[in-house]
Amino acid sequence: MMTDQDTSQTAACHLDEQRLTAALRSAAKDASCVSLLRGALLHFVADPEDAMLSEAASSDGNDKGDTRASDMAATLARAVEHYADALLVMHAGHVVAVGDHHSLARHEAVGELMRLSPPRNVEGLMMPGFIDTHVHFPQLDIIASYGHCLIDWLNTYTFPAEQRFADPAHAAEVADAFLDALLCHGSTSAQVFATSHASSADALFRAARARDMRVHAGRVMMDRNAPPELLDSGVAALKDDERLIADWHGRDRLGYVLTPRFAPTSTPKQLEAAGQLLKSQPDLHLQTHLAENLDEVKWVAELFPDARDYLAVYEDVGLSHERTTFAHGIHLDDGMRQRIADQGASIAFCPTSNLFLGSGLFDRASARAIGMNISIATDVGGGSSLCQLESLKAAYQVGQLHGAVAHDVAGLASRANQPLTPWQGFYQLTLGNARAMRLQDKVGNLRPGMEADVIVLNPAATPLLARRTRWGQSGQVSLQEVLFALMMLGDDRVIREVHVAGQCRKLHGLMLSACSDTPFREPAAALMP
Ligand SMILES: [Zn+2]
Repeated sequence: MMTDQDTSQTAACHLDEQRLTAALRSAAKDASCVSLLRGALLHFVADPEDAMLSEAASSDGNDKGDTRASDMAATLARAVEHYADALLVMHAGHVVAVGDHHSLARHEAVGELMRLSPPRNVEGLMMPGFIDTHVHFPQLDIIASYGHCLIDWLNTYTFPAEQRFADPAHAAEVADAFLDALLCHGSTSAQVFATSHASSADALFRAARARDMRVHAGRVMMDRNAPPELLDSGVAALKDDERLIADWHGRDRLGYVLTPRFAPTSTPKQLEAAGQLLKSQPDLHLQTHLAENLDEVKWVAELFPDARDYLAVYEDVGLSHERTTFAHGIHLDDGMRQRIADQGASIAFCPTSNLFLGSGLFDRASARAIGMNISIATDVGGGSSLCQLESLKAAYQVGQLHGAVAHDVAGLASRANQPLTPWQGFYQLTLGNARAMRLQDKVGNLRPGMEADVIVLNPAATPLLARRTRWGQSGQVSLQEVLFALMMLGDDRVIREVHVAGQCRKLHGLMLSACSDTPFREPAAALMP
């Protein structure tokens, strides 16, 4: 006998089937904008949580351990979709269908589409494109500059580099190089700081639009405590933001982000005006920095003596809400974490930057225990790589150091380490980062209707990785181990293919033309090496 739930599930499946068929028939009429990829595929549809499956499975074997292992296996099974042989159908920049190749190919409309546009076999593992939630494009050329800590680094390298962006030609040249570098590393979406020059944001948006990338960005607001050449006109400068919003926000795959650099470089009046602008446009995002460095925290307390704490400087003017990304958030207490969680804002954890500038160890476990939204980002140029695989490696190392630091300071291991599992790591770079930015209905996984940003990871990209993963040979290496090896040993050589809104931008490890005026077509199978 069918229950109400069975009936409604059957109805939902029927509706999905109707939608799928309609989408496939529509794609078949427009076959030149269709591409089909066949191969292994992995994406997340929920948070896999932090548990390492093998740890649970190898626990003491008693009933409690067995229960924990089966709970974790169930959580993972709900969160991860992995196909050894998937078919991914993309049309007009979106995913139309994804699933097991043999099952999907039996669908009449899929079969028809496959005859019109035969699938290309990919070598490696398809995933959604990575999302970088915090990165500064004007700092591309000062990445890996020797320095001490945040404030010195800003004064010595960042501010002089950003002054060059008064020249629109320079901004355009760096914007092109920056976005190509992001794509080369597998990041197809990003939330980006420009400089205080409106023209630098224009340059980035133009370059992103040419690549059809999902880029959310903003001009830096800064009306004090920086070189005069970089200061804007305070409240009056928000006219520039209003013009940029009108020109770019919501256009194609672009979004505008209000971008006060951080509390010390904006007057209270400018922060207040930013809060009013944010309130007047409910779909705008906001990005800034919070509690990265202890000297910075002290400086903010001096500059804002009436504020309860650093976070309150932003809260008091309405800058902390569900579309706010605070970069770093290292030096917070649980009360501040709880307020961020309650407001629905997120913290961008930037581990290569935190290690490079010696800013501190982000407490991921405390943030997650409270339910705070987290993303993982590069923070180039404070970060030392645009590669989000490097971010995962550094995040793992930061987590490991938590236990060691507690041991050194207290003389006993009073705090556990917080190693990042590969499941949590790859979830974070894709769906997790999309959720933190409230973009999960657009990017983050490859379900039908999502924007078709796809990368292909090659687990045998280097001789060492090939040995470690023995991909597809003996079957002795689990998927979990392959993913962990990729995050610990991988770099841009792992990113074998990159597809942005369904168009191929990197193939066989080589970047292709960025100009969307001449869209790339899947090469004939005979040409493939
Ligand atoms: Zn930053």
